[in-house]
Amino acid sequence: MNKHIKDLMSFLDNSPTSIQAVQQIETRLLAKGFTRLDENESWHVKTGGKYYINRDDAAVVAFQIGSLSPMDGFHLAGAHLDSPCLKIKPESEKRHGNFSQVGVEVYGSPIIATWFDRSLGLAGRAVWREKGSKKAGKTQISPVNIARPAAIIPNAALHINRKVNDGFEYNKQNHLQAIIGDCETPADGSILKNLVAGELRIDAEQIVSMELFVYETTKAELNGSDASLLVSARQDDQTMSHAILSALLGVSKPNKTAIAVWYDHEEIGSMTRQGAFSTFLSGIMERLMMALGLDREQQLIALRNSYLVSGDMAHAFLPAFAQNYDTDYAPRINQGIVIKSNINHKYATTLASKQRFIEVCEKAGVSWQEFLTRSDVPCGSTIGPIAEALNGVMTIDIGSPMWAMHSIRETSGVHDHISLIKVLIEYYKQ
Ligand SMILES: [Zn+2]
Repeated sequence: MNKHIKDLMSFLDNSPTSIQAVQQIETRLLAKGFTRLDENESWHVKTGGKYYINRDDAAVVAFQIGSLSPMDGFHLAGAHLDSPCLKIKPESEKRHGNFSQVGVEVYGSPIIATWFDRSLGLAGRAVWREKGSKKAGKTQISPVNIARPAAIIPNAALHINRKVNDGFEYNKQNHLQAIIGDCETPADGSILKNLVAGELRIDAEQIVSMELFVYETTKAELNGSDASLLVSARQDDQTMSHAILSALLGVSKPNKTAIAVWYDHEEIGSMTRQGAFSTFLSGIMERLMMALGLDREQQLIALRNSYLVSGDMAHAFLPAFAQNYDTDYAPRINQGIVIKSNINHKYATTLASKQRFIEVCEKAGVSWQEFLTRSDVPCGSTIGPIAEALNGVMTIDIGSPMWAMHSIRETSGVHDHISLIKVLIEYYKQ
């Protein structure tokens, strides 16, 4: 199997939430010699150096400082680490006879029906209190990943819910209840705390608060007679996140400084301190340019000479739903990278940014396709227009074609992922 596809599958399997995705990114950056910079300290950087910033364990910016003058601008690429999902309401744990269940909140816009009858793990983080040491009473925050089937949201049988095949609408409060234990489990309403405590090797009473999401435990797999399809959870947008990461790790001694940003919270509008609608990237860029000795005018020149590739998965043509596409602009899986445009600028692509990206594709020998939505349906959006507006950097929106965006399992093409890494390496090294 291609090494990038193997690594992508491992990345997807081990990134149930943005928290774990950041751990995956950080591990790979450290292995390639990147140094962590702290936002609370002064930075000292040098040409050729490789650095990264981790904001609240939920978003990352990483960069390799190029050999050209910083005034020549930066090559940026960005994606998001969060995916639509279900978050547990920890205080909702209730006993129903011999089993327990919890309610959930809906994060973003998942295809809700796909979350039923799946084996679900639990991941997120927990705040817990130290005991029995000098630190007794102090609180810590730790990532948690219960990577085994620990919950399930069952459908009612067809015979109980006769309308299920007739446009039935699931109610988010009533029907999305996750079963988390049977008669073997304690009846004191503490199943979740016990599960998390077991994972962290602490006692349940040490847990102060938890932020847990359910996620699909079935691993990423190749599909199709030629194994050219990749089926996995969270490909929007961890597959693009992985392509950007692989390209940044795959380039050495770039001419322009190569920057990657992985945001959180795109699926809920990006307006958080680690989302695209924040000063996260612009603040880091400003500090980087100051550390490289640029005055304000030189910084503005550097931004004018910079370019941002916004990466988010794209909608591939699905013949069974042909009428839902503009078939002149309906990308095919494994037929190349998708350039997304929208007249109302829901995507950041402009004619000039497209011109520049097509040149990179041609140089890399990678084919590309165009996506437009039907003129009579609204368009989705990405981090692209937001990051473009906040940073004033010319931007393009691209993606890999994929079926079933926002389903618990999504299907993309392995050849597209390999092409994507190839074109991003070509871009970064220029
Ligand atoms: Zn997305």
